[in-house]
Amino acid sequence: MTTIRNRKPSATPPDSSSESVAFDPQINERLAGEVEKEIWFRISRLPGKITRAVEMVPLFLLCLWLILVYTNNYGALGYWEAFVRRSNHFRDRFTHTSFAQTLGLDSPALNPYSLWRGVVVISVSSIFTYLCLALLFLRLELFHWKPSLLESYLMEAKSSFLGRYLPESWLYYIFNLYQSEHAKRTRNRIQNRDHRATEDHIELAKVVNVVLQNLLISPFVVFLMWMALCQTGFDSVNILQSPRSMVPPVQIAVWLLIGDTLHFFPHYIAHTPRGSKGIHHKVIPHSLASRLENFLRNAHKTHHRSKANIAIAAWYCSPTEQIFFNLFPVMLGPVVTQIIADKTGNAEVWGTHIVTLYVWLLAGTASSVLAHTGYRSSWNDPGEHDEHHEYAFGQRSVNFGLTGFWDSILGTSGTKAAEGAKKWQEQRRRHAALAIASKRTGIPLTKEQQIIAEQPMVDYEWVDKRVED
Ligand SMILES: [Zn+2]
Ligand SMILES: [Zn+2]
Repeated sequence: MTTIRNRKPSATPPDSSSESVAFDPQINERLAGEVEKEIWFRISRLPGKITRAVEMVPLFLLCLWLILVYTNNYGALGYWEAFVRRSNHFRDRFTHTSFAQTLGLDSPALNPYSLWRGVVVISVSSIFTYLCLALLFLRLELFHWKPSLLESYLMEAKSSFLGRYLPESWLYYIFNLYQSEHAKRTRNRIQNRDHRATEDHIELAKVVNVVLQNLLISPFVVFLMWMALCQTGFDSVNILQSPRSMVPPVQIAVWLLIGDTLHFFPHYIAHTPRGSKGIHHKVIPHSLASRLENFLRNAHKTHHRSKANIAIAAWYCSPTEQIFFNLFPVMLGPVVTQIIADKTGNAEVWGTHIVTLYVWLLAGTASSVLAHTGYRSSWNDPGEHDEHHEYAFGQRSVNFGLTGFWDSILGTSGTKAAEGAKKWQEQRRRHAALAIASKRTGIPLTKEQQIIAEQPMVDYEWVDKRVED
């Protein structure tokens, strides 16, 4: 093993007639097996594992929050304080305009946080996050199902102002690069079916229309949350003082538990197959339970018009669902913990801080879109929610929660997506180990070894063809 690892890579592939052993693909295979067991190799795979489990955008927002908290606590940079002072200045200038005074936006009832900071900043940043992520993935979707679009863009680029000045070979190079990168990513699509919106522009327009309506509903719910918070001791917290380091992680864990619970149970009841009785029948009278089932199923039906997931359709749902399944569960937690902090006299430490609230709400929006992308990548794995959409209202419907906590307790977790993810990760790990082995031995990988990570890992057998659209 030592001799193989220490061998310098040769500039040219060895001659097979004189060094037939060097071409034995088993040498790389064996060394790759050893590489996979090495501790540093396992450590190098950890970041991907963590981001897939926690998701990239919430992780990014968590890092942002850490920077804000620590730079303020230690006085090194003070980004949060600078942001608050700037926005205060902006708000003061705005509230002195005749426009704001006519509309009553300078009302002291809205101080010290103001409607602008509580409703406008939260709503605009959430809508912006949703649209950016959704469009980023829609681009991938459209090229996956409509590759001809790429060619028509190439033609347009050639005849454009830019095309007249750039050599044609450069344009082809850029497009080929883009196409091959794109092809690599689209192989990671989890479901072997397309969303109707990718084939039918009327359906796409319908999805966009419903999503825009839901995006416009969200500021009203944010307003309600903000007004509820303003009735508590929320405004007594000094906004310039960043929260104590241990507070936001604990609060976010509590909000996640509250949000998961409030999302899970209506969702679980909505998916109860007709004729069978879920746990809610044990808690409330049968007739009421059946009525609740019908109400929630009808509210949730629109969202399940998507059998295959695409990012832009994350909030493709009825207004009732948008308010009760998506918005209330994430917005109630911050109000509840603030009320508890007030009642117990701990608002100074355990009161909801606006910086934690921003991170929480943006991460919630981003997670919602990322759960619907339909593509597995080294940093995001939406397989569980794909499985949820695949089986929808059938007997085998699974994965109703946000975190998997209640699903594991009540035995409603699916297994297919987890199996697929495990295979996918094993395959990527093997590919990385083979590449390292080849570098160490100087023996090039065979074609079969090279394409290991390119094979689709989709287990098409789990596509449920019996479930009606
Ligand atoms: Zn559902
Ligand atoms: Zn969904």
